[in-house]
Amino acid sequence: MASHALIERARQQGRTLLTELESKQVLHDLGIPTTLGQLATSAEDAVHAAETFGYPVVLKIASPDIIHKSDVGGVQLHLQDGEAVRQAFRAMQQSVATHAPGARVDGIIVQPMATPGVEVIVGMSKDATFGPVLMFGLGGILVEVLKDVAFRIVPLSQPDATEMIHDIKGFPLLAGQRGTAPADLEALQHILLTLSAFVASTPEVKEIDLNPIYAYPQGALAVDARVVLEEAPASA
Ligand code: ADP
Ligand code: MG
Repeated sequence: MASHALIERARQQGRTLLTELESKQVLHDLGIPTTLGQLATSAEDAVHAAETFGYPVVLKIASPDIIHKSDVGGVQLHLQDGEAVRQAFRAMQQSVATHAPGARVDGIIVQPMATPGVEVIVGMSKDATFGPVLMFGLGGILVEVLKDVAFRIVPLSQPDATEMIHDIKGFPLLAGQRGTAPADLEALQHILLTLSAFVASTPEVKEIDLNPIYAYPQGALAVDARVVLEEAPASA
């Protein structure tokens, strides 16, 4: 389903939070590489999906009411075979029922386990004065503790995208040091510029959070995605 149809459907259902799978479909539609998964509604479904992707796989809870999946036991990594998938599926259902009672659950997403890369994050939020702004930073502890991030106003120019990547203090981690290969900065710029164009032409989108994106020597991959929509205008 194309982005605009997806957004329309969510609005008609009265939702402002797109699920990870929907958010990743939006990315996929824009040409941003992502670990697109498949929704499973039973443990056997999940094993079947895992077998089509190949092991190892990741399971994640799919719920329009859960924003931080790890917090409720809704992410299981490194699943190596069918038995591990079955067990993780049941454990996740129980954990979510305990930690997020009442949350609507669409099912559990099965997705390929990505090769680790340098973790970066890209976000979009709307500033009261400047309108949509994009944020770029290093993921994990660097962003949470050190707030090492750079902002630019949408629409971004090509130099904006280059500069904001170079602006963060952690840039040396991306530039490669002591024998580690540099990250593909062009792939990161491409993500920033693509999102900028998308946001500029899609005012219904209120927030985007790609956390994390794995930056590789060649390419970059969004392994988590969240798109939040503006409240739909009240219909007459
Ligand atoms: P949350 O909603 O808790 O942010 P994430 O989807 O970001 O959930 O998953 C939590 C963590 O698990 C990520 O930060 C990443 O380190 C790891 N992870 C998630 N999906 C994958 C994947 N497909 N491949 C490898 N690691 C993953
Ligand atoms: Mg995340």
